Amino acid sequence: MFKAFLIKYGEIAIKGKNRYLFENALVAQIRHALKAVEGAFQVTKEQGRIYVEALEDFDFDETVEALKRVFGIVGICPVVILEDEGFERLAEEVVSYLHAYYGDCNKTFKVHARRARKTYPLQSMELNAQLGGKILEAFPGMKVDVHKPEMMLYVEIRERIYLYSDVIPGPGGMPVGTNGKSMLLLSGGIDSPVAGYMVAKRGVKIDAVYFHAPPYTSERAKQKVVDLAEKVARYAGPVYLYVVNFTDIQLYIYEKCPHEELTIIMRRYMMRIAERIAEKTGSLGLITGESIGQVASQTVQSLAATNEVCTMPVFRPLIAFDKEDIVTISKRIDTFETSIQPFEDCCTIFVAKHPVTKPNVKVIRHSETKLAEKIDGMVEEAVKRAELIVVG
Ligand code: ATP
Ligand code: MG
Repeated sequence: MFKAFLIKYGEIAIKGKNRYLFENALVAQIRHALKAVEGAFQVTKEQGRIYVEALEDFDFDETVEALKRVFGIVGICPVVILEDEGFERLAEEVVSYLHAYYGDCNKTFKVHARRARKTYPLQSMELNAQLGGKILEAFPGMKVDVHKPEMMLYVEIRERIYLYSDVIPGPGGMPVGTNGKSMLLLSGGIDSPVAGYMVAKRGVKIDAVYFHAPPYTSERAKQKVVDLAEKVARYAGPVYLYVVNFTDIQLYIYEKCPHEELTIIMRRYMMRIAERIAEKTGSLGLITGESIGQVASQTVQSLAATNEVCTMPVFRPLIAFDKEDIVTISKRIDTFETSIQPFEDCCTIFVAKHPVTKPNVKVIRHSETKLAEKIDGMVEEAVKRAELIVVG
């Protein structure tokens, strides 16, 4: 019965010039999301509205699911679009719409008409009253309630006439592409995909970097990260994933530095390399899945030591989240099952029995001087040789 959707988006935050950027990005993201759905769609923007119209047969549920992943959408309204053939014809269409959608309707309702085309012979208030009357005639069980109706029937008179009554919640947030780009440090764990999702939800385009240490980490571990990037891309659009071979750097640190400092020093090099790639590829910030106190390398002292090596802002959306809450989101966005596959991500072999939990930055800096001979060249090489995989 539906061939189109009216897309509602949060309008309060987007006054003036930003509105146009916001809408264009939203249209682009909707088009992208619908590429994965069978059927052809037309996405149009007119007078502060975005419409998605199916040009051929399509799967309703699949389309709604795809739209629910487009940040910036607050509501998805399945809409019936009619040619204007006079009021009597409109009233008939309204009644048959209610029949088809709600069956034997016995709800309280309110008609909310809007006349964008001012030449239409009835004013909005008249339309409300007269259509309301027709509905009451057709459905003896229905009652008008103008304060708290169970069903709100929207009738918009434009060039054509739009009828809708259902608003399926969208994900909210802002369209990806309206807030620059950032580089996600993506591991195979539960946290970092959720962190990427959350920042993308604020309109930030996501690139990703994964530190791979073959043969200590397997091809399967890498594939798991590619799969996770794919899941994030379902929301964030195509993700450029840079896979950095980190083995030599890890071995070098292992050889030269105190073992209880390995994790911190390794994390500092991850941040340095991520920042270098970010600079080269136009990202303005880094994103990690860190959360205060979750592990030894995420105490406040460790975070401070890790943070020290980069000048870009580091976005840590999960910083104050409990694991349980992170897991809830990862299940909702469908990354959890992939994240818990048992392939080791980076570093587990290099983890000391008793890692420092309160690293002293001066001590860490001193340990890093032992790497002076070769490390700059190794970092250079790692950045240069990063493998690019485009997903989504
Ligand atoms: P996650 O569940 O995201 O793997 P974690 O709880 O395992 O996080 P750590 O291993 O301390 O925590 O990693 C903290 C953050 O550092 C991760 O959220 C991720 O952003 C980044 N990170 C860790 N390992 C890697 C890696 N191999 N490649 C890229 N980023 C990584
Ligand atoms: Mg991890």
